[in-house]
Amino acid sequence: MTRQARPGETIVWRSVDREKRSVQTALPWNVVRHDEHSIVLFMRPGTVWKVRTGRYGGPRDRMLLEWDGAYAERIWTATNVLMFHRFGDAHSLWLARDDATSRLAWWYVNLEEPWHETAIGFDSRDNLLDRWSGPDGEWHWKDEDELAWAIAQGWVGPEREAELRKEGERALERFRRRDPPLDDDWLGYRPDPSWTIPTLPSGWPDYEPRAD
Ligand SMILES: [Mg+2]
Repeated sequence: MTRQARPGETIVWRSVDREKRSVQTALPWNVVRHDEHSIVLFMRPGTVWKVRTGRYGGPRDRMLLEWDGAYAERIWTATNVLMFHRFGDAHSLWLARDDATSRLAWWYVNLEEPWHETAIGFDSRDNLLDRWSGPDGEWHWKDEDELAWAIAQGWVGPEREAELRKEGERALERFRRRDPPLDDDWLGYRPDPSWTIPTLPSGWPDYEPRAD
C-alpha cells in the first residue's frame, strides 16, 4: 500500500513475528482517515479476525508456547472500536464504545512496534504490556504478568520493561493533549452507513518481509 487509503476501504492490521517470519494475529478494518502522519481505523461487532492455535501456557494460559501452524477465528462482539496510530509511534490508541448505546466502554493503549505498510495494510508486533481506562477515566496497566513471564522465559530482554513503560507514559501524554489525530469528536463518530463489515482477503496469513 504505497498510497493513502480511501475512507471505507478495507485494510488488514497484523501482528507479525519477524524472527519466525509468521503472522500472529490479523484483523480487518475500515479506513476512516489516512494521511502521511497518521491513520484512523474502524471495527464493529461481527468482525471476524484470526489468532494462532496450538499449545498455550504462562499466565492465565494466554501465551502461545507452540504454534501448530493453524489459526482460529474470533468474532468481535459488543463494542465498536476506533483505532488511532501516528506513524513511527510504538503504540496505538483504541476507543471502544458500546455498540448498542454508543456509550464509552474503554480506552486502550496497545504497545506495539511502529507500523509499516504491506500489500494489504499494515504490520506491527504486539509488545505484551498495555494500558486501559474505563468510563471513569482512570488508567491501569494491563498484562504486566505476561510481560514478567516473557522476561523470565528470556523471550523479552529485561531492559525492555522500562522502555515499554516509558512508551506507555508517552502515549498517555499524547492522549491527554489530544494530539492529532485525536483532536476531533471521536466519541460522537458515526461510520458511513453504506459501509459493510470488512473481511480478511485471501493471502492474509502470508508473511511479507520488510522492504526497508
Ligand atoms: Mg497488546
